[in-house]
Amino acid sequence: MGITGLWSLLEPVKEDIFLSECKGQRIAVDLSTWILQCALITNDSFARSAKSFLKHRGIFFRAINVSKLGINLVFVIDGPDAPPRKGKLSRQLFFLESQQYKKLLTAMGFLVVEAKGEAEKMCAELNQQKLVDGVLTCDGDALVYGAQVVYKGMFTDKKELRAAKYTMEKVNSILHMGHKDLVAFALLSKGDVSDGVNSVGEKTFLELFKEFERNGVQDILERLKSWGSNPELNELEKRMSEADRMPKKTHCSQCGHEGRKNLHCSSGCPVCETDIGCHSSLQASDKLVGTRVEHLLCPCIYCAAQREVKSHKHELKIRRLALEQNEDFPQCEVINEFLIPQNTLPELSQVHMNRPNFADIYSIVREKLHFSPGQTAEYLIPWIIKIALNGILPNVDVEPVQIIKICTENFETCYRVKWAKLADFDELSEDTGDAYEFNVALSLFESKYPDLSRQFKLQNSSSKKKRKSEQDRDSKQPKITEMFKVSKEVSGIQQASYRAAKP
Ligand SMILES: [Zn+2]
Ligand SMILES: [Zn+2]
Ligand SMILES: [Zn+2]
Repeated sequence: MGITGLWSLLEPVKEDIFLSECKGQRIAVDLSTWILQCALITNDSFARSAKSFLKHRGIFFRAINVSKLGINLVFVIDGPDAPPRKGKLSRQLFFLESQQYKKLLTAMGFLVVEAKGEAEKMCAELNQQKLVDGVLTCDGDALVYGAQVVYKGMFTDKKELRAAKYTMEKVNSILHMGHKDLVAFALLSKGDVSDGVNSVGEKTFLELFKEFERNGVQDILERLKSWGSNPELNELEKRMSEADRMPKKTHCSQCGHEGRKNLHCSSGCPVCETDIGCHSSLQASDKLVGTRVEHLLCPCIYCAAQREVKSHKHELKIRRLALEQNEDFPQCEVINEFLIPQNTLPELSQVHMNRPNFADIYSIVREKLHFSPGQTAEYLIPWIIKIALNGILPNVDVEPVQIIKICTENFETCYRVKWAKLADFDELSEDTGDAYEFNVALSLFESKYPDLSRQFKLQNSSSKKKRKSEQDRDSKQPKITEMFKVSKEVSGIQQASYRAAKP
C-alpha cells in the first residue's frame, strides 16, 4: 500500500524511463512487491498449486527480463519480524512463501538477502551505502526510508520495460524537500507504518510545508516533535480560539478598515488618514512591501488577532487534529523506523551474481513451473549468455563458435551466433545438438568480441565483393537463357530456310 498521497506529492519529480537506461547498474528489488503483483493475476478460486505456479512463473520471467538488460539485481525479502502488512497474509506466512522464491532466485545465481524488518528499508539502506545504484519497487516507502533513486511500477511498452524514476536529488531541487520532510509526510499521511492524521493528505501537507518555509522552520521533524509541548503554539492556539469568538465590527469594503464605506466616503478613514474617501482594499495589497502595508493594516483587535494566528493557520489546525487523535503524536517508533538503519549489509564485494546452480534450477522449475528440460534450456541459455556478455555473470565462460549472419530482432540489428555448449548445463538439458544458436544484439556482441566481429565483417564484405564481381561478370556475358533462346531462334530460321529450300 505504501503511503497515501506520496506519489501525487512526488509527481513533479517523476521521470518516465526505459529500464535499459539502467544497464551496468546494481539495483535492489523489494521481492515482496513482485510477489504481491504476481499474486494479483490469481484469485481465491485458483487452487493453491495454480497460484504457486503463476507466481513462480511471474518471478522467474521478471528476473530474466530485467537482468537481461544488463542490470545486476539484488533481491531483498521481508524479515519474519516486519510489522504486519494490512489486509495481507500474516508476516510469518509471507516470510515462508518468500523462502520458496528465494530458493529459485538463488539457484539462478542472484544474491537474495533477508531484511530484519521491511524489505524496502533494507533496499534503502543498500542504496544509502552505495551498495546499489537504485531500488526497484512499487511502494514509495523506499524514498521515505532514505533511498536516493527509486524505480517504480515496472511495465512493458512496445516490448520494452519501462518505469517511473524518482530521485532525492530532484525532490531536493524541485520540491525543496529532504529525507526528514518525507518522514514528516509519512507521519501525517496514512501508510503501512503510520496511521497518519485524519483528513491530512498531500495537499494539506504541501500547505503546511509552505507555511513552515514562510515561517523559517528548518527542521520540520523537530517541529512536529515539539507539537505536544510548544509554549508558543499553545499561546497561539489560545489566541486563535479568542479570535474566533471575538465579534467583528463593520469593516469598510473599500479599504478594509473599521467603519462603513459610505461614512468613509463622506468623512474619510482615520487609518487611511484621509478627510474624504479612503484607499483601496487592504486584501488586494497583500503583495505590497515596506511601510505602506504596515500603515494599511487594520489595527482593530479582531484583525490583529486574526493576523497573528493566520501565519500559523495550517500548523495550528493539523496540530490540533493530530493531538486529538493521539496525544503522543508523533510516534517516536515511526520516526525511528524511517531514520535509524537496522540491517546488517553485505560487503560490496559480495553484491554480485553467482554462477547459476543448474541442477537446482532444473529441479525447481520442473516442480514449480512445470518446464521440461528442453523448455528450461530454451529460456535459460540465451539469458545466461546475455548476462555473461553484459558482465554481470563473472564466473561463466561463454564461447562463440561462429557468427552465422546479420539479422534484425525487435528492430535491433543482431548477429545470429553459434555458441559452444555449457558443460554442466548440458548434462541436464537432454539436448543432443553440438551447439546453441540464437541472436545477440550486434553492439553487445561487438563490445565483448571485437576481433570476431571485425573478422566476420571483413569476410562478409569480401564475400559480398566476390558475389558482386561475379554478378558484374555475369551481366556482361549474354545470359544462358538468352543464348539458348537466340540459338533456338537461329535454329528456327535455319529450319524454316531448310524447309523453304525443299520443294
Ligand atoms: Zn474605507
Ligand atoms: Zn481606511
Ligand atoms: Zn479590523
